[in-house]
Amino acid sequence: MSEKKIPDNKKRAAARNIPIKLHSIESLAALDGEGLRTVLFMQGCPARCFYCHNPDAVPRTGGKEYSPEELFAKILRFRPYYGDDGGATFSGGEPCLQAKALLPLARMLKNEHINITLDTAGAVLSDDVRALLKCTDAVLLDIKMPSDALYREKTGIPQKRVYDFLDACLSLGVKVTGRYVAVPGVNDGEDTVADVVRSLPKGIAAFEVLGFHKMGEYKYGKMGMPCPTEGIPAMSVERVERLQKVVDEIMLTEK
Ligand code: SF4
Repeated sequence: MSEKKIPDNKKRAAARNIPIKLHSIESLAALDGEGLRTVLFMQGCPARCFYCHNPDAVPRTGGKEYSPEELFAKILRFRPYYGDDGGATFSGGEPCLQAKALLPLARMLKNEHINITLDTAGAVLSDDVRALLKCTDAVLLDIKMPSDALYREKTGIPQKRVYDFLDACLSLGVKVTGRYVAVPGVNDGEDTVADVVRSLPKGIAAFEVLGFHKMGEYKYGKMGMPCPTEGIPAMSVERVERLQKVVDEIMLTEK
């Protein structure tokens, strides 16, 4: 017996009923994409980055549930501040883990011409994620480690998955900015960073080096967990600037 085809409008109605689970919301944020933005920090992440500064956003349990309509209204309230560049950012945790739930919201925002930026580790790639990317204007993609071995050891993500995610973004014409958290003694060699940038396909719009910081470490204590980065110093501003120069030179001449 052949399976009965479910009409698209019924599928969309079913997706609309999936709640979006948030860790928190930030209004008028200036660091998570261009312009001023409303940032939705999603609850749940499949990665286990040893330097995660949001460990409380990693468990899939917890968080608060919202309907797409509720979040749409919250995002729209700040529309006068977004200007040409600002809008909404889906961050985390890992937003792609809830791609199916986010789709109706993304489509509502798209209809209102609100810019959507996805702040992601590229750890999940599925048909729902591809559909979400089609509604997305820009992706901030974490490129975390220089090799598959280090990726698996330090984040729990296979490196290939992230590069596949990057390929999917580029083939869909989404603007991608790579983001690289440089951690002292782990992934901060100048040659290491240069190799990472060279390993990326052409078409990436920008690549930013961010310095490892200690600001989220107190959360591990609050959660009764040992802090995996105890003893690692914060990255100096000068070192980040030096690494960014290395990156900029390659981006200018080779990308
Ligand atoms: S991807 Fe982000 S939220 Fe997830 S574990 Fe890594 S740093 Fe934390």
